[in-house]
Amino acid sequence: MYRNTWMEVNLDAVAFNIKRLKEICGKRIIAVLKADAYGCGDSHVAKAALEAGAEMLAVSSLDEALMFRNEGYTGSLLVLGATDPADVSTMIEHDISVPAYCPEWVDAVLANHPAGLKVHMKVDTGMNRIGFKNNDDLKSAFDRLKEAGCVMEGIFTHFCCADFDEVFTNMQYDRFREAVEMLDYPFEWIHCDNSDATVWFKDDLSNACRIGISIYGINTYTDELRHPVSLHTTVTMVKKIKAGEKIGYGSTYTAMKDEIIATLPIGYADGFIRANKGRSVWCDGMLCQVVGNICMDQTMVRLEHEVPLNTPVEVFGPHIHLEDMAADLNTIPYEIICLISGRVTRTYVWHGQEDIEENARLLKSEATEV
Ligand SMILES: *Cc1c(COP(=O)(O)O)cnc(C)c1O
Repeated sequence: MYRNTWMEVNLDAVAFNIKRLKEICGKRIIAVLKADAYGCGDSHVAKAALEAGAEMLAVSSLDEALMFRNEGYTGSLLVLGATDPADVSTMIEHDISVPAYCPEWVDAVLANHPAGLKVHMKVDTGMNRIGFKNNDDLKSAFDRLKEAGCVMEGIFTHFCCADFDEVFTNMQYDRFREAVEMLDYPFEWIHCDNSDATVWFKDDLSNACRIGISIYGINTYTDELRHPVSLHTTVTMVKKIKAGEKIGYGSTYTAMKDEIIATLPIGYADGFIRANKGRSVWCDGMLCQVVGNICMDQTMVRLEHEVPLNTPVEVFGPHIHLEDMAADLNTIPYEIICLISGRVTRTYVWHGQEDIEENARLLKSEATEV
């Protein structure tokens, strides 16, 4: 590691979480690994998820699906978002399942020789993102795709409020059940649960759960999961400043008394966004407040006592919980981990062994070296 700022992903804890969730729901697990597995490294998380018993991987787009195929994954692979019907032959060639979600998509796909295309019918039950809103459109799309030789592999919907609204979730489910019963087809994959629903929502219709954020231990309804992800940096410089001195761009912070300030090699280009100003990081048993504006690559924090250079600093992890950080920043854990940029070194723990992966650009430049 050339710059001491790293994200740790404990894949043993990832595997534990997936096994536990599978026991809790008693259904097959679709591991949702979109957006580079929420920033945690999709090929690494996939390896742990598959070993833990996940039976399908889901991603957001055809590009993400092709990355898995290029890396040699040959198992079930589902795109969750919209796709371009012009790419039908690519979907078929690489055995990638896709959602059918509106009449226009179906019309365009039918014009592109879709025989053999694996389709999951997407039912919109209240989220109003993608999916068929009424049973007539759903039925006609289903019949036409089937007639054209598509493999009618699955049907699914997505809950929008499973973390807090039982009534609305039940309403969405009723609408889903109605759609599934109306089509009356032996779909191999019937799925509606996201992470939160996987824990509390029980039904006898669906046979798989799609879990994303709970892979990383975040769940509203259980505290049995482990927290595999943490973000760390180290102290690169320590200085004493006098009362009245100012810190950082714009001199937005003025020391009230003589203070000890540490500089950290992490900034907003790492995903440590400027809104973290005023929050604290953890260093040598102290909560240390971020003082002054966060720079692109560096951040200053106030210490209660001096520490040696290279002392480790936790941005989130065992002492500062990701969920608390998200609450401070008025956001959700998903956004914080997705934003940790590619230049942050990743370290993975797998079967008890630590493996350090240098930042993505460095790896790419080494791979293309002439
Ligand atoms: C992202 C996503 C999921 C996973 O949601 P979590 O809340 O992270 O479990 C499941 N299904 C769809 C359609 C999604 O877009």
